Order: sequence, then structure tokens, then C-alpha cells
Amino acid sequence: MTKMESLPELNVGVVGHIDHGKTTILSKLTGKFTDTHSEELKRGITIKLGYADTIISKDKTGFNNQGQGQPVRYISFIDAPGHEMLMATMLSGAAIIDAAILVIAANEGIKPQTQEHLLALQTKQIKNIIIIQNKIDLVSKEQAIKNYKEIKEFIKETIAKDAPIIPVSAQQNINIDKVLEELVKIEIPKRDSNSAPIFLIARSFDINRPGTEIKKLHGGVVGGILKTGKLKVGDEIEIKPGFSSKKANQIIYESILTKIKSIYKGKNSIKEATPGSSLSIETELDPATTKTDSLIGNTISTKGNLPEPRNNLKIKTEIFENVLGSETHEKIEPLKTKEMLMLNINTTITVGTVEKISNNEVEVSLNLPVIALNNDNVGIARRIGNHWRLIGYGEVL
Ligand code: GDP
Ligand code: MG
Repeated sequence: MTKMESLPELNVGVVGHIDHGKTTILSKLTGKFTDTHSEELKRGITIKLGYADTIISKDKTGFNNQGQGQPVRYISFIDAPGHEMLMATMLSGAAIIDAAILVIAANEGIKPQTQEHLLALQTKQIKNIIIIQNKIDLVSKEQAIKNYKEIKEFIKETIAKDAPIIPVSAQQNINIDKVLEELVKIEIPKRDSNSAPIFLIARSFDINRPGTEIKKLHGGVVGGILKTGKLKVGDEIEIKPGFSSKKANQIIYESILTKIKSIYKGKNSIKEATPGSSLSIETELDPATTKTDSLIGNTISTKGNLPEPRNNLKIKTEIFENVLGSETHEKIEPLKTKEMLMLNINTTITVGTVEKISNNEVEVSLNLPVIALNNDNVGIARRIGNHWRLIGYGEVL
């Protein structure tokens, strides 16, 4: 076993309002830049879920990501978009993390997506949270203290009430080591290695450079997290709901059978993956079928272990009082039959139509089929004005 494979692994999401410094912080924590898609570079905002990893080491002087001293922990990060249009993407990221860093810029303070993202963490029961008070280079000492108190007040009655708050300047590399230290303190959740494997796809791509010789081509690659069970090179796997096609004016989904050619944890090739690992899996699929995130939202298991995709769900819902993702915090009206909601289940995002409501149970018909397991958490958003806002959450019945 390589050193890295034996290191405890934690999956951490970086969330918060747009421009508060998430992507910059991640580049300092990992030495890698996550805004790599051309559209993101052009617009300067994170649109998709970014990914970067690092190994935290410890030596006499403290924690570092430069490999000095003893390696203590492997961290995979998900960089979530902070733009209000992209809340759904943020939610699908929240499905694959164990812990989160909530970034709040000291010069701007608590903004709508700061609130909405914290609420999302709360609905997904992500209890391990580190708060970064970023951009302290832009404020006076007095402003920094005032902002710190506001953050304290803001988290008081939330899931983040005990979260450490670390003043940071990502740009000037101040206190990045303190963040590493807090990341090492977080307890690694218990992993379930005995159940059938469940791998949630959060990214998929074609890693071949244009013009590669056919016999040197890599197969289609999917990235995501192994929630439970184990997967190894050579395993026959099933991907569901799978590929869609149109037959007699109906869209049908066919599950995909393929085989694992290789597994990567960061840059390291491994033979077998254990639960809780963030992985890239190379399959025998034609790379054209996995390019540009085409398989996001699909679930993988070994052959025969996944339920059938569902087009209808019964959900036990919990609807909030007010919208937090907007400036005005308007009151949330009760759910109505025939209204459209945006639902997030694991890494799947789909629109659903409310068919039936009784008390706090709703039946919805879905635009896209999902693989839902019992008790799966559902993020519920409604279109208010021009935006999808998080209005509640639920549990698949
Ligand atoms: P994101 O939208 O949350 O991912 O924010 P980015 O990481 O893209 O940062 C937004 C802008 O803030 C960029 O221009 C960064 O260079 C800048 N920025 C990030 N961190 C700091 C910081 O600590 N201090 C200052 N002055 N600027 C920062
Ligand atoms: Mg960003």
C-alpha cells in the first residue's frame, strides 16, 4: 500500500457567497487552481464543481501542504459556485462532502448566499464546519472585530454554532496553516465497507488529448465519491439511470454495463478503493460518452446492486419559513399542486412537478429519473423571481 492510500481521507466542500475568495483559498490550501474550464476563466466565476486535493503533513513548525515532515491526512476539496444562479450545483456538491469551509469576506460580511449555503449544510447535516473570515487585509482591526462578532451572532443558532472562525488573507497567505490545522482536527466519519458499493458521479470527462492514437486512447472517466463499499480495478460495474435515447417519442434510459480499467486518487493510481474516497474511475466506455460532465448525477455499483431509476418520488418535506437566499427574505408560501420544484437527490438535479400533497408528504413526478435510496435527503428549491431558491428539504419515502 502506498503511503497515501493509508492516510485518513476527508472530503471538504468550500462554500460561501460569490467573490468572497473560495477559489483563491483552495488554490492556497492545495497549490492547485480549480477554475480550469475556459468559461470559468473567462467570466472569473466558478460554474461547475471544482476539484483539488492535497496531503497535509506535520513537522516541528506545524502543518503544511509541502510534504515537510510526516503526512497525516489526505483532503479532497470540492469548490462550489457561490453565484445565486448556481445553488443547485452547490447542493449536489454538498451530497459528497464530510465537512465544509464556509468563506465570509470580512469587508462584505454575511450575504444572501452565505446564509443559503449554511442552510444547505444544515439540511444535509454537514456538522463539521470551519469558517474562514477572509480578506482581512482589506479591513481595519476594528472592522475585523466587528465582522467577527457578526459572524458569531449569525452562526449562534445554526449547525455551525461551534465552528472555529479563522481570520485569513488568502491573497497574502495569512493563516492558511491554521486552516490546515483545523482540517486535521475534524473527526473522520465512520465508513461502511461492508455494503454494496455506491459511487456518486459528480464529474465526467474525456481525458484524451486531441489526436491521440486510437490504441493509446483512455476510456471514459467519471469522478465522484465512493459513499459505501469497495471498488477495485477489473470490477464489472453498472451505471444508472445511464444513457438516454428517444424511442417512439419517449425518452428512455438504459443502464450502462462496463468494467473498471483504472482508479485514481488524485494523481495516484490505486488498485482498490475504500469508502469515503474521492476518486476518478477510468472505464471501458467510449470517452465520447463521458465528456463534458454528461454522466453527472448517475450512480455506480457492481452489477445488479442498484434499484431501478424512479420517475416519481414520495417525499416527506420540511419547508422553511423564509427565503434566505435573497436580500428580502420573503415568506415562503406552502407547496401547491402542479407547481414545479427543483429537486436535488445525491448528485442529481432535476425538476419535479408536485402531483399530490397531504400534510407534509408530497408526491412529485420527475423530469429526469433518479436512483434514490431509502431515506435519501432531498434539497427543495422553488423559482422565485428569476432564481431557484432553497425553500426546504425532505426525505425520500
Ligand atoms: P470565489 O468567487 O469565492 O471563488 O472568489 P475568488 O477566489 O474568485 O476571489 C474573488 C476575488 O477576490 C479575486 O479577485 C481574488 O483575487 C480576491 N481575493 C481572494 N482572497 C482575497 C484576500 O484574502 N484578500 C484580497 N484583498 N483579495 C482576495
Ligand atoms: Mg470560485
